[in-house]
Amino acid sequence: KNKDLKCIGCGALLQSEDEHQSGYLPASVLGKKSSEELIYCKRCFRLRHYNEVQDIELDDDDFLNMLHELSAENALIVNVVDLFDFSGSIILGIQRFAGSNPILIVANKSDLLPKSLQEGKVRQWVTEQVHSYGIRPQNVYLTSALNKQSVEKFMEELDKERQGKDVYVVGTTNVGKSTLINQIISIAADTENTITTSYFPGTTLGKIEIPLDDDKVLVDTPGIIQKSQLSHYLDAEDLKIVTPRKEVKPKNYQLNVDQTLFFGGLARFDYLMGRGKTSFVCYMSNELYIHRTKTEKADELYETQRGKLLTPPNSESSVELPELKRYEFKIKEPSDIVFSGLGWVSIDAIDITVAGWAPLGVDVTIRKQLI
Ligand code: GDP
Repeated sequence: KNKDLKCIGCGALLQSEDEHQSGYLPASVLGKKSSEELIYCKRCFRLRHYNEVQDIELDDDDFLNMLHELSAENALIVNVVDLFDFSGSIILGIQRFAGSNPILIVANKSDLLPKSLQEGKVRQWVTEQVHSYGIRPQNVYLTSALNKQSVEKFMEELDKERQGKDVYVVGTTNVGKSTLINQIISIAADTENTITTSYFPGTTLGKIEIPLDDDKVLVDTPGIIQKSQLSHYLDAEDLKIVTPRKEVKPKNYQLNVDQTLFFGGLARFDYLMGRGKTSFVCYMSNELYIHRTKTEKADELYETQRGKLLTPPNSESSVELPELKRYEFKIKEPSDIVFSGLGWVSIDAIDITVAGWAPLGVDVTIRKQLI
């Protein structure tokens, strides 16, 4: 009895043996359920009702095994990436794991980019970026999983692209994969909330199958938790501030050499060398406080004000945050300095030197300018 019941949130098989594994529900609850009911595992239930996450690890090996299985399928691989955390959400080696299967890159959260930006230009940029990672997609699409029309449009394209094959949707956590699949389900079946979504990384556990028209299915796969993601060091309150919710308003700072910007107390940007006043445009959550100061005062300010003036982190999460690590960059072409999970600073000027700082373990990288 109750052998094959699945959580409708994450798709995991329900079980009462191990609280730390996916699909757990106490025997006292699970025993009373019948297969006609829609049941959430304890984890998804808590997430839905209390907005509280229970950490379940999907480690790198499990994720690689899961990816490895893909090469044995005859399917279209849909890799969802986060336009706002592009390098942090790329799956290195996806081309190899796909085997002979075609790949679609779906760059999600397009609603966060300025509306003035042309879709064609962004697609071109995404294509160049994935090529530089050795990924040769069949095609590249932009989506906003929150937007029904955007997903409807994508579904039409998907139907052509898949040429009758099953579709496997893969992605790292937090790219909006569950939101996208939820939207697909609600469009296709007019039901909602079948897959859990949240602010937190690691929401989706276990593969889940969604029927497409004929005998084919769309398969949602578990995401891998990117250890380098800033979100791991932040609590729910901080995440609300840091995670952009709508179109990001660029903030333009005219800095002199030896001036510094703090992004809350989470990251820091120094203008080290160049010629006079230079423009630095920040693309980050509109709610994130940016503080400008002299570079010579920055260390002391950070020491005394982190978790206070420089927030997030708040006074509690501040304790957990690793020390800032510094990365130096010489700008040779119009570039973005990317703070993984936070956003980026866009720079037109060339032949200047800057530094980016982020908590140890969180990447700061340079890339060709997006906007
Ligand atoms: P998953 O871990 O990849 O399944 O990601 P989720 O679907 O749980 O989404 C992670 C976070 O991103 C949630 O806070 C979502 O509301 C948000 N999100 C998902 N898709 C979009 C999108 O297209 N635009 C914006 N602005 N936020 C999104």
